This record gives sequence, structure tokens and C-alpha cells, in this order.
Amino acid sequence: MEEEKGLAIGVDLGGTNIKGGVVNLQGQVLKRMSSQTKAQEGPERVLDQIARLVQKLKGEGKIEGLGVGCPGLVEPTLGIVRDPPNLKGWKEVKVKGELEERLGLQVEVANDVNAAALGELHFGAGRGVKDFICLTLGTGVGGGLILDGRLFTGSRGAAGEIGHLPVNIFGPRCRCGNYGCLERYVGAEYITERAQAKLKDNPQSLLSPLNRGGRLTPKLIAEAAQRGDDLAKEVFQETGEIIGAALSGVVNLLNPELIIVGGGVAQAGELIFGPMRKALPKRAMSEDIQRVRVVPALLGKDAGLIGSASLILKP
Ligand SMILES: [Zn+2]
Repeated sequence: MEEEKGLAIGVDLGGTNIKGGVVNLQGQVLKRMSSQTKAQEGPERVLDQIARLVQKLKGEGKIEGLGVGCPGLVEPTLGIVRDPPNLKGWKEVKVKGELEERLGLQVEVANDVNAAALGELHFGAGRGVKDFICLTLGTGVGGGLILDGRLFTGSRGAAGEIGHLPVNIFGPRCRCGNYGCLERYVGAEYITERAQAKLKDNPQSLLSPLNRGGRLTPKLIAEAAQRGDDLAKEVFQETGEIIGAALSGVVNLLNPELIIVGGGVAQAGELIFGPMRKALPKRAMSEDIQRVRVVPALLGKDAGLIGSASLILKP
């Protein structure tokens, strides 16, 4: 590994795990490590953890720098992270400055979903595409915007929050404080919640015994749908339609060429992509806009890590 030039370390910081890897200019992860995030011990401790992980990954090799993907609002120039949802006590943390001091390396910081969008731009489903939207479906619903070949972060680094587009202004309260956001319907726990509501009138569904055991998840709902369960199919049909409706608004606004969809819930494949692709042209305005392609993300769980490294590698 010492021989290779153009290596950077990417770190994907999550509320549960810190994942790190050495990435080359081809976007390949040559070496990887992870550790459990000691989130409850505060930002200083977590920054120390990241620094230790980076030291271990680096070894004796030559590294150009470190890219970090963080949840929450990230001010990209100064690398300041604000209010990440899964990291308590992180009101405002100077991740770039603190890590540069600890490591003596160049450090760049991006929001985790934006990092994933960059990963897809340089090494994934977005290669060669100038304008695309990256959507991640999981516990939260995130978005990244690549416009004119570059990441668009907005005036304060907060652009791309597709999960908090209101899809029903009279809807239930979202954790962001607003009402009826996209995430409030299609975030993992809310997909489960919608399935549970339907179960009351459909006790014969395959999902009933799972729900009684308190084990219902979007993954199990998808499996039941694949086995032909009508209620489970309906849940995913609805989920895809809601996402498609929200995306039609985004498409009308930005006219992208491509929409890349990743995250755990997107593993449901055609169950969710089918209705999403159908809903879009029904709702988007001009014929040109209707041509937008909706494809799965290519980099999977490595998108954040590889994209973070690309903040340094600038391939
Ligand atoms: Zn919201």
C-alpha cells in the first residue's frame, strides 16, 4: 500500500458506528476499520476515537488527508457540525479544526448524505451525470443535490433536506417540528406504523404474528410482500407513491437527469422503485421532466465512506 499515490482516508460517522477506510483514486476501499461510537461520552471523546481510528488506518502509509461524513447540519468551509440528530451534546463542534490539530492532516467535512451523493457522483451511479438528486431511505430520509457537476449545499450548508418536504400540511408532527414531512410517512419506523394501522382491518396478513412479537420492520414487510401478502404490498405501493409525489416536486424545481435512491429501505427493490417510477411522470409537469431516470445507488453502505474520501481526492 505504501507504493500507491493518491490515497485518502474516509470516515463515516454515525450515531452507532464510526466506519473508516483507506480509499484510492479509483474509489476502492483498500483497508477498513470500524468502532462503536461512544456518543454518550460527548464530542471530545468521539473526536479522539476518530483520530485513533485514522492513525491505525494510516499506519506507515502516506495519506493525503481525511474526509469525514457527519450527520446533521455541516458548514462545509469551516467544517463545523451543528445539532446532529443521533449525537447528543453536539450543539456546535469544529470537527475540521479539532481533527486537523489532533492529526496534522488536511481534514474536510460534509454532511453524510451529501458525502454519499459525492461518492455516487465520482464512483457510482452518478458518474458522468451533471444534475442529479441522491435520496437515502432509512430511519431518516436524506437528500443530496449535485447541480452542474457540483455538490449544492445552500447558503448555510443545509440544502437537500428532501425528507422534510411537507407532503401533507395537515399531517402528523415530524421530529423537525414541522407537520406532515415526507420522512414522517416513509422513514423506517413510519412505514412500520402505517402497516400496523392497516393490520387492524386485515388480521389475516402474514404481518400479524410478527407485529404481535413487536418485530415488524420495513425489511420484514418487504419479505412478506415478496411472498404475496396483499397488505405488505399495499404498504410498499403507498410508500413508493408518496416518495414519487415528493420527488415530482423536486423534479419540477430542479429538472435533474437522474434520481439515485439508496439506504436500507431501498433494498426492497422493485417493490418501492416500481410505484415511485410510476408516480413521477403522473405528477411532474413537462414531458422533458418526465424523462428523469430513477435508479438504485451503486456504492451501498460504502457510499458515505468513499464520498468522504473524495472530499480530499477530488477525482
Ligand atoms: Zn420534518
